[in-house]
Amino acid sequence: MVPDIRDEDILEVEKVLRSGMLVQGKKVLELEDHFAEYVGTKYAVAVSNGTASLHIALKAHGIGKGDEVIVPAFSYIATANVVELVGATPVFVDIDLSSYNIDVDQIESKITERTKAIIPVHEFGLACDISRVVQIAQKYDLIVIEDAACGLGAKFNNQHVGGFGEAGSFSFHPRKAITGGEGGMLVTNSSKLAEKFKVLRNHGISEKNRTEFIEAGFNYRMTDIQAALINSQFSRIDQIIEYKQKLANIYIQELAENKNLLLPSNQDNNINHAWQSFHVMILKNSFRDKLISGLNDIGIGTNYGAQCIPYQEYYQKKYSLNCDLLFPNSMRAFKNGLVLPLYEKMSEEDVSSVAQNLLSEFLNC
Ligand SMILES: *Cc1c(COP(=O)(O)O)cnc(C)c1O
Repeated sequence: MVPDIRDEDILEVEKVLRSGMLVQGKKVLELEDHFAEYVGTKYAVAVSNGTASLHIALKAHGIGKGDEVIVPAFSYIATANVVELVGATPVFVDIDLSSYNIDVDQIESKITERTKAIIPVHEFGLACDISRVVQIAQKYDLIVIEDAACGLGAKFNNQHVGGFGEAGSFSFHPRKAITGGEGGMLVTNSSKLAEKFKVLRNHGISEKNRTEFIEAGFNYRMTDIQAALINSQFSRIDQIIEYKQKLANIYIQELAENKNLLLPSNQDNNINHAWQSFHVMILKNSFRDKLISGLNDIGIGTNYGAQCIPYQEYYQKKYSLNCDLLFPNSMRAFKNGLVLPLYEKMSEEDVSSVAQNLLSEFLNC
């Protein structure tokens, strides 16, 4: 994964550096305005990274000790870590292997009187069935915080993800569609929540009276250096997503015939896949790691996609959940999942060449 930082982006950063106004200034405000407009929410609040934005979203809702929060078992680990960080308990739900997203049919059985929120993830840039998640949340009076860290450009029923629940969280880590090195964004349609987010990201300083500290807040501010870099790339976002869709379709064509591979689905016309990652499943156990090292030897960087979170050491020690039994799909995706390179700087020929090399590597397994 090589981010496409262009001269024009660097120039924007240089302007900030020369201005001397480095933290949460004009550039952050500009990015927040553009972001809210693009996602279609009333408010956007920039923060230092995607994990910080999830953390603030939970804090702002007063979620903490004694509360349970439903999360998919297969995601980047930050989705569950933030629940631990506020002192609440993550309750894991297995995923659906056709989307790598939370299996919505299993959510209701995990709801208890302690459940306060659901954090659905739009994994790898594909929207989960967010309208059903919201329906369930309404039925049980739960909060929905969308983890849209991979979801910039992803749509469900032609509506951009992030604005379906109470809050939506985005990341600008270099593995995401556009990057500030680090960076995060919270979106919401509630003015009250937006204000809480702003207070929490800035040491608890009141937005109305700058001499009052009304919360024990964090320092989760974004710098203007990051905002300028992100905003400059943001002006190309639709081209970036379209180009990645084109590259993903090349992978799908080139790899369609191979019986050892489960390709990501892109069939639903109501869902716009943003292809943060091109994630495949290797259908033969024990092939995946051999493929990673074989491809690495010829200079092609691939990796596993995400963790089965309850299987990781911290969660095993604390909860001892039998993951093979409880989360079989998450375990399969964790053990047999493979992310192929897909980024703006790749040409169509590069993608074909990776696909052909992957097919030949199978012969060495
Ligand atoms: C990247 C990612 C995060 C964390 O974002 P950071 O900006 O790296 O903190 C959280 N959740 C998911 C699903 C992610 O992919």
